[in-house]
Amino acid sequence: MVVSADARTVRSEYLVPMSDTFADIGLGADLVAELASLGYEEPTPIQRAAIGPLLAGRDLLGQAATGTGKTAAFALPILQRLADQRPAPGRPLALVLVPTRELAVQVSEAFHRYGRKLGTSVVPIYGGQEFHRQVAGLRRGAHVVVATPGRALDHLRRETLDLADVRMIALDEADEMLDMGFAEDLELILEAAPETRQTALFSATLPPRIAAIAERHLRDPERILIARDAAKPGSMPKVRQVAYIVPRAHKVAALGRVLDLESPTLALVFCRTRLDVDELADRLSGRGYRVASLHGGMSQAERDRVMSRARGGTVDLLVATDVAARGIDIEHLTHVVNFDVPSSTEAYVHRIGRTGRAGREGVAITLADPRAHRLLRNIEHATKQRIAICTVPTPRDVKAHRMDMTRAAVRDAVVAGDLDAYRAVAEALASEFDPMDVAAAAIRLAHEASEGDGDGDAHDEPHIPVIESFARPQRAPGRAESSDMVRIYISGGTRMGMRPADIVGAIANEARVNPRSIGDIEIAEGYSLVELPARDVDHVIRSLRGATMRGRKLKVNRDLGIRPKK
Ligand code: AMP
Repeated sequence: MVVSADARTVRSEYLVPMSDTFADIGLGADLVAELASLGYEEPTPIQRAAIGPLLAGRDLLGQAATGTGKTAAFALPILQRLADQRPAPGRPLALVLVPTRELAVQVSEAFHRYGRKLGTSVVPIYGGQEFHRQVAGLRRGAHVVVATPGRALDHLRRETLDLADVRMIALDEADEMLDMGFAEDLELILEAAPETRQTALFSATLPPRIAAIAERHLRDPERILIARDAAKPGSMPKVRQVAYIVPRAHKVAALGRVLDLESPTLALVFCRTRLDVDELADRLSGRGYRVASLHGGMSQAERDRVMSRARGGTVDLLVATDVAARGIDIEHLTHVVNFDVPSSTEAYVHRIGRTGRAGREGVAITLADPRAHRLLRNIEHATKQRIAICTVPTPRDVKAHRMDMTRAAVRDAVVAGDLDAYRAVAEALASEFDPMDVAAAAIRLAHEASEGDGDGDAHDEPHIPVIESFARPQRAPGRAESSDMVRIYISGGTRMGMRPADIVGAIANEARVNPRSIGDIEIAEGYSLVELPARDVDHVIRSLRGATMRGRKLKVNRDLGIRPKK
């Protein structure tokens, strides 16, 4: 991320690691200790840029997507600045506004986690939860209220919430709040808070409507923007880049299948925190890989031991944090895996540059939670390289791949010859049985033996939900076959950057149709075709007609087979 602050531009040197610690950027000992116990090894770029100014009392306008560490970027300064204050009943000292109930819960949990030692109280309030429970929470006195705008306004109107003591406001995912129609509510809420309060606004995108809110409600803000030209031309390594969109709960299973297909000689698997490293290393060992882990909490002697194992070829997967991986140099790395989308373009480029050296093809695999999809896009944009979104292999794909490997191994053995020692056995068996049966039995034994050192079929393979793949939604078992499916035509394709996620997202959000019921999606240069259950087609077409995809209104019709001329 290239960060510009007011007129100044703070250019974090591309590819050069930054080493400020949480203490260096001004956080107190209690928070620093809490972050260490959570396994955070260093601040992310947005935290490095935002925390200092927020601690100093500045307003802030930050462009940051989910996955950059933006929640901690505003939560940590709020916690620190409110630590020694006592809230009055119904009068919080800080207000965080978020677009959805899920985010309200997540952000409150983050405040709880970070603020454990400080005794900060946090109350989430959102639509759909009983009013009186929220009122009771507010009455007990909360340092921080995390609210969706509609519900915050309801409480203001009923006078169960009073913003007179609010010293800090954070608007999280401001663009989404506007998209959800909260613009007026936001204005009313901001008007109800004291003018002297400090305000931080975070948004993944900064359209004019956001700029207008910032203009009206922020005072001389520090601006943290993602520059458009983050990657230097020619600085990108030549690496095959793929990503899988997978909910967090299914990431380990998905990664297991992907690794089974990719068969890395040595992969470096990056995690965000020390705790994630330990957990993932454990779970991957459980799947039969030879795993070693590296993180900042290890002594030099321990790291040296791990590195010599990796160099000696007795490790398949090296699981590490950025900090731990920074100092090491490994040749022969065939794969880099991002277990989460890294928090900045620099981190991504730095990580994937570790494979594909010396003319060998490298592979970079990223597992992205659906919410981090935007961050993945930002990286693509900044690096001007495509990251192919792939479908997580099914257990059947993995099986088929293993069979291919066995077939190839047997073939190689036939070609290599030197089978005299076995020919007598083969002939003896062939005189007793059909030679085809003999060969099949031998192949079966070879196949089963090779599964023994991999992950085999011993694991209960979970069903990974369809969201894993924005690329090609799969049919749910037992769902209507294509005779009940009808194709629609959308007048935009790859030329305008259309991707399956845009289509799935628009259909799910605008037409409220379950993404699982969407069939095949085909995206051509100038148009896209989408299969839908016949009963949903008219409704989807109507809903999409007013909607935008990739920022444009497009024509949507039943597919009549008419294609645009190139
Ligand atoms: P966010 O962008 O706020 O949704 O954060 C994304 C994820 O990064 C969350 O799971 C955080 O717990 C994690 N995270 C935030 N800051 C750090 C950090 N400095 N080091 C490691 N993980 C972090």
